[in-house]
Amino acid sequence: MTVQPNSIEGRDIAFHLHSYTNARKHEANGPIVMESGEGVHVTDTDGNRYIEAMSGLWSVAVGFGEKRLVDAAARQMQKLNYYHTFTHKSHGPAIELAEKLVGMAPVPMSKAYFTNSGSEANDTMMKLVRYRSNALGQPQKKKIISRIRGYHGVTLASASLTGLPNNHRAFDLPMPGILHTTCPHYWREGRDGESEEAFATRCAEDLDAMIEAEGPDTVAAFIAEPVMGAGGVVVPPATYWEKIQAVLKRYDILLVADEVICGFGRTGQMFGSQTYGIEPDIMTLSKALSSSYLPISALLINERVYAPVADQSSEIGTFGHGYTASGHPVAAAVALENLKIIEERDLVANAREMGEVMQAGLRRLADHPLVGEVRGVGLIAAIELVTDKAAKLSAQPPGDLAARGFAIMQKNGVISRAMGDALAFCPPLIVEKQHIDTIVETTARSLDELQ
Ligand code: PLP
Repeated sequence: MTVQPNSIEGRDIAFHLHSYTNARKHEANGPIVMESGEGVHVTDTDGNRYIEAMSGLWSVAVGFGEKRLVDAAARQMQKLNYYHTFTHKSHGPAIELAEKLVGMAPVPMSKAYFTNSGSEANDTMMKLVRYRSNALGQPQKKKIISRIRGYHGVTLASASLTGLPNNHRAFDLPMPGILHTTCPHYWREGRDGESEEAFATRCAEDLDAMIEAEGPDTVAAFIAEPVMGAGGVVVPPATYWEKIQAVLKRYDILLVADEVICGFGRTGQMFGSQTYGIEPDIMTLSKALSSSYLPISALLINERVYAPVADQSSEIGTFGHGYTASGHPVAAAVALENLKIIEERDLVANAREMGEVMQAGLRRLADHPLVGEVRGVGLIAAIELVTDKAAKLSAQPPGDLAARGFAIMQKNGVISRAMGDALAFCPPLIVEKQHIDTIVETTARSLDELQ
């Protein structure tokens, strides 16, 4: 493809370094430039219209072009465009949103703390965990266990929690004190003859063994997504969470649920923690919190976390952490209106109903010769692509089939996402049956083209 230097694509190549993009390939091929969005659709500058079957980056829950959110932002900007939350200052939207989130939490939570991205929320979580251990007089209790293929962000600290090689390689990560335990992907990690239940037991035993090897009094927290997202939509075995939580309780280790993708309806309940019976001490939230109309994220912390942190801040004189835009009033006002929409339109019920349609539709593709596994829950799913079904052989080079499959689907008008060897689906919670039918039919056609 030749890109004209003065075109919008040419200027993008000239001036813009992209996230998660091969820079040299980008110089050769240029971007697809999106111009507008409405409902589950986005349209590019060439007039091509796509179903956004990934909600952007797993985030635009209420769909594109929602006027109520535009109006909420404009109202708040006119009233008080900015104020901070440092040194005893506050404002209505932050207070209201904190109260709303604490009230919505699936387990008793004490406080909400605001940040601006999922990465910052998890970074802040790590600092809170350290601060708490110092407050409790346990300075050795600082290690955090995450999981292979977990995704928790890209700051130096949160990228260390992330369990994907691409986020570590070339960045000299992970940082010391962060460990990664077994990924609960039965189809890929289960042994010959091992039942799913036995695999879940093995995952918990691996965690137990890691804690014992490190020294139980050195491990402060365990972080996990209820359903792994960017690691390839990994749905855990039914008894996984029960077994993992039993281990954490035994060693008095905090449980952090990273609900950045699962939160606010994605799994068919308000939180992924409800779907899997998870009782976290800390929850990190973002994405669907504002449907990504503006950047905002939050942590919910329970009393076990809050009380020692509050004590420690008196000891030191202040809780020395915060971002200029923490609890930004415009982002908070948009988040509040967004949550109102999710509740008023009962989008969680829609996620459940449409989720069943999507899961059943995609599972109809399970017999396709290129499909190794179809997995998912609610409105999040993935199709694992293989070159040899029986041997579960992945493409060479790794990710090649998924990358090509993604490109064919995009050409056919549906935006999915290639995650390793899988194609992921995560449409807006407002999705209707006709859109899901198109997503499934386009996927089937694209898989045939890929053969
Ligand atoms: N946690 C999870 C589960 C995520 O999926 C993501 C982003 O995809 C993050 C954290 C990081 O969020 P952000 O990209 O807003 O920093």
